[in-house]
Amino acid sequence: MTVLDRFRLDGQTAIVTGGNRGIGREIAQALAEAGANVVVANRNSESGQAAAAEIAESTGVDTLAVETDVADEQSVNAMVDAAVDEFETIEILVNNAGIVVHEAAETMTEEEWDSVVDINLKGTFLCSKAVGQEMMESGGGSILSVSSMSALIANYPQRQVAYNASKGGIESFTRQLASEWAEHDIRVNTIAPGYIRTDNTDQADAIDPDIDEVWKSEMLMDEIAGPEDVAPAAVFLASDASRYMTGARIVVDGGYTVR
Ligand code: NDP
Repeated sequence: MTVLDRFRLDGQTAIVTGGNRGIGREIAQALAEAGANVVVANRNSESGQAAAAEIAESTGVDTLAVETDVADEQSVNAMVDAAVDEFETIEILVNNAGIVVHEAAETMTEEEWDSVVDINLKGTFLCSKAVGQEMMESGGGSILSVSSMSALIANYPQRQVAYNASKGGIESFTRQLASEWAEHDIRVNTIAPGYIRTDNTDQADAIDPDIDEVWKSEMLMDEIAGPEDVAPAAVFLASDASRYMTGARIVVDGGYTVR
């Protein structure tokens, strides 16, 4: 077996929450290119179906789109049931779905706080719980969650306390889950991206058109990256190439957190 063979995912099944657009879309594509069948789980069924069809067409793997709200346990459980009905076992879960609300702490509403924490943090728990039960029965798997460098730093100039709290929670949740599920051969890791050009970062640009320049001034690499720059780390963490890693984090941030 060559080293590149260890990155192959042939015959495995991956659920990618938010696999219809942004970082999740590129991760879903990359896992499929490595050979995995892919379940796209997101709220908007039209774009989920379109992404699943494009991935199947371009890679030849089998795909399934399931309309899902990761913040709702019934919805998550129905999605996992549909995935198991279609593919029997699930070897990979990517907790990628996430939102940000740019609002100062002193004026953030309870609803805004809850929406961010429910989708980003509770959603990660609900999906991990439902898929973890399946992985325990089938002999193990790999769970990776897209946290953020916001778990490690204070962002500036935008205000986003709920987001940073949710991402810090994902990092802490991951360490604990890795410890609890090692005995089931389930590895649990995170990817912590820096600023990546998606609808998420476009929200901040809409507030302050000069924000990219402020962000870039803090980076070692003078560039806002694209979702395709995050996806290779997901293939690594999903695959046997990272078999000795659990409870760990890969930071993909152009050197932002170094300063
Ligand atoms: P986008 O805004 O482009 O995409 C967000 C994704 O999350 C969409 O696929 C969306 O699906 C899905 N989603 C949101 N809410 C739910 C929900 N309740 N249930 C199911 N799916 C949901 O964001 P990014 O691609 O930028 O972000 C992906 C992840 O990466 C997030 O967790 C984000 O926090 C993280 N991240 C992003 C960074 C960046 O700079 N872009 C930096 C660091 C981390 P739908 O279209 O159906 O709403």
